[in-house]
Amino acid sequence: MAVKTRAAIAFAPGQPLVVREVDLADPGPGQVMVRLLASGLCHSDLHAIDGIIAHDFPVILGHEGIGDVVRVGAGVTEFAAGDRVMPYLMPDCGQCPNCLSGRTNLCVEYGRRFNSPTSPFSLDGVAVRQFLALGTFAEMTVVAADSLVKINPAASPEQACSIGCGVATGLGSALLRARVTPGSSVAVFGMGGVGLSTVQGAAMAGAARIIAIDTNPAREALARRCGATDFLVPAAVDNMIATLIALSGSFGLDFAFDCVGRPELAELALEAVHPAWGVAMCVGVMPSDARIPARPSALLSGRTLTGSFMGGAKRGDLPGFVDMCVSGELAMDAIVSHVLALDEINRGFAMMRSGEAVRSVISYAE
Ligand SMILES: [Zn+2]
Ligand SMILES: [Zn+2]
Repeated sequence: MAVKTRAAIAFAPGQPLVVREVDLADPGPGQVMVRLLASGLCHSDLHAIDGIIAHDFPVILGHEGIGDVVRVGAGVTEFAAGDRVMPYLMPDCGQCPNCLSGRTNLCVEYGRRFNSPTSPFSLDGVAVRQFLALGTFAEMTVVAADSLVKINPAASPEQACSIGCGVATGLGSALLRARVTPGSSVAVFGMGGVGLSTVQGAAMAGAARIIAIDTNPAREALARRCGATDFLVPAAVDNMIATLIALSGSFGLDFAFDCVGRPELAELALEAVHPAWGVAMCVGVMPSDARIPARPSALLSGRTLTGSFMGGAKRGDLPGFVDMCVSGELAMDAIVSHVLALDEINRGFAMMRSGEAVRSVISYAE
């Protein structure tokens, strides 16, 4: 039996979202219907609205959710009604060559499902696309069981929902991909939700020096709360590369992360890391045609320039991140700055553009 649910629909690029009642189909084989409790607003949603991420419209955006299972489709044995769950945009089919390799979180199903014309949502009989096969800007959604994971119900949905994208990306980049080492020196560009989570991951790993960099001086207090030992505003620094190398106490940093997604920051990260073993990591999403002007001689000595998608995290990594939020090891209150009702979603995106919000979260209880 299909149901009606309220959702924020993006009808066209560059337009405000419109909250409407839509039809939601029953969960098919291998699918699960979820009643959402909260959903974070991510830069990728904004990129889709702005057309930086090419996507078809109309679409229900949103991919950082927490909710409860309502019912399951045929063949789903892993979940049952009432389970507290987190949807995750990276599927884990367990059968594709990438999943079987055990070497990556990139499931082949991700590309197959992205911008798929098949969607459980429709409006007046016309399909409305489901962003990243999740569409969490809706009170209810239907997702594939392999894009879902059970989490600790003690976690506050408003505090923990951003773990499903931004925080997983930051923590995973530091802990799973770069594997930051105890006593190491680290720089992180960009103190948004991803950058602040990367700083927290580096602090958990025992990094001795964590240099946070942001153009907004107001982010210093948050960065330090997350574990940064130093804070730099680029406009106030004469020579960023020389400054970072001096702060490393060596010939360069052990690790540097570009959490903004700009080629010049990736190049700067590469130049600031240790010539023999430094790791520079692209974390922020860059335009697909962007190029990084790297010096090959900077690589010959042994530096690594690499990247991370969703921090290398698989859905099985998320419950542990949620537990860190419950225990207080992960300070989500430094990241979630605003809790809004679904009807206020456009204000949330305006605050993302202005930099007023670190992370806005929709509470469906509001
Ligand atoms: Zn995201
Ligand atoms: Zn797979």
